[in-house]
Amino acid sequence: MQILRTIHETQQTLLQHKRRGQTIGFVPTMGYLHSGHISLVREAKKENDIVVVSIFVNPTQFAPHEDLSKYPRDFERDHSLLEAEGVAYIFYPSAEEIYPQGSQTEVTVKEKTRHFEGEFRPTHFAGVTTIVTILLQCTLPDIMYLGQKDAQQAAVLTQMVSDLHIPCRVTVCPTIREEDGLAKSSRNVYLTEKERSQSVIIYKALSAVYSELEQNGNVAVALEKGKLVLSEIEGISIDYLAVADDMRFAPAEQIEKEMKYYIITAVRINGKRLIDNLVFIA
Ligand code: AMP
Repeated sequence: MQILRTIHETQQTLLQHKRRGQTIGFVPTMGYLHSGHISLVREAKKENDIVVVSIFVNPTQFAPHEDLSKYPRDFERDHSLLEAEGVAYIFYPSAEEIYPQGSQTEVTVKEKTRHFEGEFRPTHFAGVTTIVTILLQCTLPDIMYLGQKDAQQAAVLTQMVSDLHIPCRVTVCPTIREEDGLAKSSRNVYLTEKERSQSVIIYKALSAVYSELEQNGNVAVALEKGKLVLSEIEGISIDYLAVADDMRFAPAEQIEKEMKYYIITAVRINGKRLIDNLVFIA
């Protein structure tokens, strides 16, 4: 496994593979890897000749008050995990390499960034869409692998790849969870033992909304049930709990047969922000 730190070296190396007719699977990450990330790597490995994983904690997707400086990092551990998975390359650039002085281009997606994460983190998605465009230019993949865990991000990036006619497919892989239902996340390391045990309420609330939608199909009633479940935990605050439709990634007030929806939430447990979702096919 080779570590690529510069864009020039990365493009030259990966172009050589492409010229040989090899396919490239790409998994963008911010590192501090867990089994959620590894599931994407395994899917990429199954479907491509070589796998490239990027590790880059992208400063532009964090607002000034967010957790950029304390975001967990452990390159040595990530390196061993990826080596064991048979990954060919880690793209591990510095912030200066990605955003040299004077760079001024931003990529934005309009509608699908309007609600939910876009409302509570207004500068977040422009950071995400811009970095992923840059990463795609560097790694030239045939398929990019994203996690359902970040449902809105996956929807926004799929839209972007399509709108910009980037010659790459996007595959969205299922959310990997702890045994009790908590979605795996690098940020779970912020939770104290007590908060970790409280955090299972997120999955319970999403599941309550899911069951209610399945049985009665009434979105407002289902969301009320979900909110009631969340309110069992002291110190929890809800940024949103909503049903989003797949077409617009906007709040759905009712559900239509055979359409795809996401039951999505972002909550803060003692100020620590966690997001999760379930896919619901009506
Ligand atoms: P991150 O390092 O958190 O930016 O995540 C990198 C990629 O891994 C994104 O496409 C995430 O959606 C995906 N991912 C993160 N957590 C999980 C999980 N629990 N299950 C599946 N994919 C995940």
